[in-house]
Amino acid sequence: MITRSSALLQRPDRETKPLPMQARWQTQLARAIRDPLELCRRLGLDEALHGGAEAGHALFEVRVPEAYLARIRPGDRADPLLRQVLPLGEEALPTPGYVADPLAEVEHTPAPGLIHKYAGRVLLIASPACAVNCRYCFRRHFPYEENAPSRAQWDESLEHIRRDTTIREAILSGGDPLAANDRQLAWLVERLEAIPHIRRLRLHTRLPVVIPDRIDDTLLGWLGSTRLQKVMVLHINHAHEIDEAVVAACERLKAAGVALLNQSVLLQGVNDDIETLAALSERLFEAGILPYYLHVLDPVAGAAHFDVSDAKARELVAGLREVLPGFLMPRLVREIPGETSKTPL
Ligand code: SF4
Repeated sequence: MITRSSALLQRPDRETKPLPMQARWQTQLARAIRDPLELCRRLGLDEALHGGAEAGHALFEVRVPEAYLARIRPGDRADPLLRQVLPLGEEALPTPGYVADPLAEVEHTPAPGLIHKYAGRVLLIASPACAVNCRYCFRRHFPYEENAPSRAQWDESLEHIRRDTTIREAILSGGDPLAANDRQLAWLVERLEAIPHIRRLRLHTRLPVVIPDRIDDTLLGWLGSTRLQKVMVLHINHAHEIDEAVVAACERLKAAGVALLNQSVLLQGVNDDIETLAALSERLFEAGILPYYLHVLDPVAGAAHFDVSDAKARELVAGLREVLPGFLMPRLVREIPGETSKTPL
């Protein structure tokens, strides 16, 4: 069973003193639902779902914060937000072609916590934890335990970046990088900005969506003051995920000079129709976020029931083009192991 335990979450910060007071977002993170039956009960779901929820949870633990739970329609087993977080028995079914590491990332880790796949960019696993566990996640089997570096190990990773002057952009990823505390993130960003050839800081995160209170003054303090250009790539799959608290969090980020983009995953039963995808792009733009990528599902073991065929994906995007202006069109892509960039479909 994958357990991104709270112990792991704390690990990068073990050389620092604890924060005097827990921030509001950290309390919400600590109190996220981690029991599949509690999730079912809170949403008034049919008891027939309980067995599957427990079976899926045994493979990849459930995690849903209250702020996200509040956006799910109670009693609706087809709710598109619920489908992203509710474990199902189907996750245990082996499916040919669906594997533990669909993007072969383990082959591209030159130093602890570092993934270097693409030219000019390097990805740092800044936190092994997420605020929500998405059932389709391509890193649901990633060996986070081996990639949760201490500060001494981060120095090794930073040295890799210092030596390679072709690297222009540092991408903080995870897990979810914003699940790490601000002291740790500020420490890392300070060292990155001290490397002259690093120009951009990119964060891949779902936390401002699932716990909008994460965008607090402490975070905006270190993020707003770095010399690096700042890009945040959010992960939103459905318009219902963007409530007023998310819009307010986005406004604060933009005021701090952060460019906001979104990547979605095309998911069966969540967003695999033109109307839903169009509503998502419109809502993203209302919140000040530009649609960037629409990914086809990475074939990770346990997620085959989310698959949408390439033919249908192309059909959807062609239909979307007829109803949206070009600047609201996400690029339909697939990530293929060994390729030097995402592959357009
Ligand atoms: S937030 Fe991102 S990394 Fe975390 S489980 Fe969801 S998809 Fe995976």
